[in-house]
Order: sequence, then structure tokens, then C-alpha cells
Amino acid sequence: MPVPLLDLTRQHAPLENELQAVFKRVLDSNQFILGPDVKALEEEVAAYCGCRHAVGLSSGTDALLVALKAFGIRPGDEVLCPAFTFFGTAGCVARLGAVPVWVDVLPDTYNIDLADALDKVTERTRAIIPVHLFGQAAEMECVLAFARKFGLRVLEDAAQAIGALYCGRRVGGIGDCGALSFYPTKNLGGFGDGGMLLTNDAELAEKAVWLRNHGMHPKYHHKYIGGNFRLDALQAALLRVKLPRLDAYHAARRAHAEAYTAGLKGHGGVVCPRVIPQALSVWNQYTLRVPDGRRDALRAHLARRGIGTEVYYPLGLHEQECFRGVARGGETLTVTPMLAREVVSIPCFPEMTEAEREEVLRAIWDFGYGN
Ligand SMILES: *Cc1c(COP(=O)(O)O)cnc(C)c1O
Repeated sequence: MPVPLLDLTRQHAPLENELQAVFKRVLDSNQFILGPDVKALEEEVAAYCGCRHAVGLSSGTDALLVALKAFGIRPGDEVLCPAFTFFGTAGCVARLGAVPVWVDVLPDTYNIDLADALDKVTERTRAIIPVHLFGQAAEMECVLAFARKFGLRVLEDAAQAIGALYCGRRVGGIGDCGALSFYPTKNLGGFGDGGMLLTNDAELAEKAVWLRNHGMHPKYHHKYIGGNFRLDALQAALLRVKLPRLDAYHAARRAHAEAYTAGLKGHGGVVCPRVIPQALSVWNQYTLRVPDGRRDALRAHLARRGIGTEVYYPLGLHEQECFRGVARGGETLTVTPMLAREVVSIPCFPEMTEAEREEVLRAIWDFGYGN
């Protein structure tokens, strides 16, 4: 039985009538940029995330960029970033002329290692970006203590983790700002690009609202050099159909993840991801480590059975060509290169059936791991 890594058709088919009706409503409204649906989505996401302000933006990447601009990050400033994450996290830092400083991650949670951050912080450091990778919250209490000690801004990259909990709080609203993504493969996946900035700080929220519209305030007076980072009305309206279902999607992903861990833990060969006791993961990815150079062989074995996998990420950001001469801190990383060699993500989407999940487990056991 083939099992895809992700099947969006199964998520959208039951919503088709509702989505069509929303499309018609927006079409008839002739309001296509920002407007009441964007405002409503902002309020609903803010309430869901337990955060005072939410600003709809054109993508998760743009949410990160706008947050850094709102912080006033300038050329030459240093920003601590994990090296094991998606490009967008650090790309935004470099686009502002600031310096991404690579911080290693922990081998069991894949999230930022603050002991390494301590070695990399300087008097030029202005901010830290904890990434809640694969749906699990970073150790935010430690991040906040670290940031307080060195006077840093905290930007949570929550692109993969909308709704994830840390000590009972939703991520994204714990630091100074948080960035959400509605890219179709994220837990709240849209129908194109979209993102949102979260903050409890009214000043940062106001600045983000101006920045997303060319830094304009008031009309045709440009207070900042902003850009066009606006969210489409249609995107917001369609996302509002899915938001009330998000907790059910999370629960289904969690059941799959727990079954995987129960089925694979302690069976040698593969290493299951660890969830820290303070966190409730939303499992955007279920990502195993396969040591001993056998990762690609396991992937090939699963592919022969029609089971979809992906490697997030095959290269640490410190090794990316575009950051040569732009970033620093890469020389000391040890865990990031190891993860780049060992990780593989297996199917963990909400609509996956138990039978499909069992098929994935059996296939991994047949490879020589597990019972
Ligand atoms: C997806 C993602 C982003 C960027 O989000 P987009 O909406 O695709 O721009 C940033 N950081 C991480 C960790 C992501 O997974």
C-alpha cells in the first residue's frame, strides 16, 4: 500500500462546498486586498494563539522580515539563528544587512542549543530567533532568560508550529514577536502563500501594519521603507474555513506521532524525536534519525514500497553558498552536520489512516529496525 508524505486532497475534499461558497462571497465583494476577512482572521488567530495582536502578511518569510524591521535590526547587527532550519529564518537577517550567527541545535529535539548561543553572543548581538522546528516548541523559558541577560529581542519562528504549547502557552506570542506561515504544507495550510506576525506589543504591531503597506502612515506619507507584504482577502477568507478544524488536525497528527514513537522506540537503529515535558508538539513533521550512514538506504527501501519521505534539511545553513562571507559561527557546529546526514521525515498528516501508519511502521521494521 503506497503512503504519501502528505495528501492535501483528503483535507480539502470534505470542505469543498464551504470553500466554494467563500470564494463566491469574496468574488462578489470585490474586496481583494486586506479588508474584513483579513481583520477577522487576525482576530481569530490572535485569540487562538492567546496573543494580543496579529498582523496578516504575505508569507511566513515576510513575517520574519517585518518583525526584524520592526525591531530596528540594521546592517552589522548580529542575530543568533539555529543553523538547522529552513533558509527563510536566516535569509531575512542577511537581507537586512545584518549577520546571521549560527547556533547549533540539540540532537534529540532539533531545537536551538543555548549553551552554544552563550559562546556566540557578542556586544553586537541584537536578537535571537528560536525556531519551533517540526512543530515542537524550543525551550522558551531559557531563551527568554538568555535574551533578558543580554538585552536581546526574541523572534519566534513558529512557521511550523501554530498552536504548539510551551508550559501551557501557545508559541508565537511568548517572545517579542512570532512568525506564522500558511504555506500549504504547514499545519494551517492555505491556498497559496500567507503568513502572520504575532505580538503582545502594541507598538510593534502598529509598526508591522505600516511596514506591510510600504511603511505608509498616514496615507501617502511614508514613515518607514516598508514593502508590499499584505495578505489577500481570499486567502484569509479560505483560511477561516480551516482554522476551526486546526485542533482536530493537530490531534490526528499527535496520534500518529505517538504510535510511531511507541512502535519504534527502543528498537535500535532509528532514533525517535524527543518531546520535552514542557512542550506539546503539533507534529508538522515526524522526523527520525538514522545513524550509521543508513538514512538514504532506508529512504530507498521506503520509496520501493511507495512510502513518501523527505529530508528536512540536507544541508546546514552554515554550508549554504549564499551565506559565505555573510554569516559567522559555522566552524564550531557538530550536531547540525550530523542531523543533515541522519534525518528523515515520514508521513504524519492528519488524514493518514491507521492502516497506512501501520504500513509505514512495518516497512521500517522490515528494513531491519524495530521488532
Ligand atoms: C515555511 C517556513 C518559513 C517560511 O514560511 P513561508 O510562508 O513559506 O514564507 C520560515 N521558517 C520555517 C522554519 C519554515 O518552515
